[in-house]
Amino acid sequence: MVTYVYTCEVCDKTAELTAEAAYQAGCDMPPIMGTWGTVSPRTCDECGIQDTAWFALVSGTKPDQLSDRRKTAIERILTGPESALPRRQPDQA
Ligand SMILES: [Zn+2]
Repeated sequence: MVTYVYTCEVCDKTAELTAEAAYQAGCDMPPIMGTWGTVSPRTCDECGIQDTAWFALVSGTKPDQLSDRRKTAIERILTGPESALPRRQPDQA
């Protein structure tokens, strides 16, 4: 079973879940919600899209005016799904 590390870009909550479990938990993240490598909100069940990098961009914020936090979120989004794969210790590989 493939699992991904779901990271909420607003509250930084992370969870390692299957796509279906993440969807059921209210995570708005690929592969069920949105597309890997495409900027869209990456939120958990408790956070709203108004605090996401995506929302800042569609609201007219220039990419170079984004906060470092949002730039980091976009970098993670653009490098998915690799950036969402669970990190295994060498002895667990
Ligand atoms: Zn959150």
